[in-house]
Amino acid sequence: MRIALLALLVSLGVNVHAQKSASNEVDSVYPDAHALYVDLHQHPELSSHETQTASTLASLLRRAGYEVTEHVGGTGIVAILKNGPGPTIMLRTELDALPVEEKTGLPYASKVHTKSDSGQDVSVMHACGHDVHMSSLLGTAEIMARSKDSWHGTLLLIGQPAEETISGAAGMIRDGLFTRFPKPDVILALHVGNALPAGTVAITPGIYNTNADSLRIVIYGKGGHGALPNTTIDPIVIAARTILSLQTIPSREVKPGEMAVVTVGYVRAGTKNNIIPDEAEMGLTVRTYKQDVRKQVLAAIERIAKGEAAVAGAPREPLVERYEGTDAVYNDPGLAQRLQAPLEAALGKNNVVLTEPITPSEDFSAYVAQGVPGFYFSLGGANPEKFAEAKANGTSLPSNHSPLFAPDVDPALHAGIVAEVAVLRNLLNASPEELRKLTAEPASH
Ligand SMILES: [Zn+2]
Ligand SMILES: [Zn+2]
Repeated sequence: MRIALLALLVSLGVNVHAQKSASNEVDSVYPDAHALYVDLHQHPELSSHETQTASTLASLLRRAGYEVTEHVGGTGIVAILKNGPGPTIMLRTELDALPVEEKTGLPYASKVHTKSDSGQDVSVMHACGHDVHMSSLLGTAEIMARSKDSWHGTLLLIGQPAEETISGAAGMIRDGLFTRFPKPDVILALHVGNALPAGTVAITPGIYNTNADSLRIVIYGKGGHGALPNTTIDPIVIAARTILSLQTIPSREVKPGEMAVVTVGYVRAGTKNNIIPDEAEMGLTVRTYKQDVRKQVLAAIERIAKGEAAVAGAPREPLVERYEGTDAVYNDPGLAQRLQAPLEAALGKNNVVLTEPITPSEDFSAYVAQGVPGFYFSLGGANPEKFAEAKANGTSLPSNHSPLFAPDVDPALHAGIVAEVAVLRNLLNASPEELRKLTAEPASH
């Protein structure tokens, strides 16, 4: 009993010490990180147009001692700090902002307007918190460069463009991210949001979010007079049957308990009440957690669409086209387990929680698809008092992408830097073999 108590006191002492020294370290870089935050927040840029953002971040990382390459996959940047033999660990931030008009009322609120790629006049705002991620990465970069005796190996920091359009990660990979630069043993990223109070982080081992697929189905019939249906093959009736049959995929074909959503978000057909049209088109979004369920659902959609058309005697097979898609982000369970302890030591045990998967999608999965184990965790952004108040009232704070999204910057940015440094130091004290063994379990998503 006494030994247990002593051990507890020692471990508490160690943790308090770790938290204190982490806090002092962050204080020394915080002014730089916060200044960058305010600058970026006032000057947001849309996806694939992050030129000023990228060059600002690149010059600050160069000043911190990193070897920086710009224009990787468009506006992407890659910063490297080599520190002897050891593993290569990559930390990613996104660079882009969103076409949202800021309504936070903050003194440094964005007033930026620009033309979107489709020629519309839009306001621009860092409504997804990528400015927090970039500032946190800068603070982390400065600490890691000043404390090279605390780790060994290669630190790779990347600024990825176009996350919001789910195209930037693939662009950087195509431009040689993993061939022109050292291929990492592990990749890391965090995302800020209001689902957690600032000062905390959350870990989701295994599947973190959903596979998302967008499909277009065009049903071909034979048009004619609405009063002479016998001379036509009505694509609207085929579409109606198809929509109902599609709902039997989640309810009858997928194993109960597995996550599968099939939503028909639009149906377009016809021009006038007494004309049977030639075609009907519908658009679907499909969400799943597991790859085998995803395959099953996509195959079933095609089978049902073709089957219903054949039953009705359609003149042509329908077009079933998957025009957009991204994989679920998968957190390597071995990594998630290993990194919980250093996060708890740095932030306090109560400030690290385990959470369920979420539904929005993200292209961090593109790096994991290249065979690199990943760890993607959540950073609390909500003002702790407002968070508690909202919880007590059963309301929720503005989510990411809202014109009112305003993270509580000081505690959130502070915790982001502490967390990134803790995770990086832990991994950059391992050997590449140790990390390979840890992550050797085949991913069964
Ligand atoms: Zn976003
Ligand atoms: Zn985001």
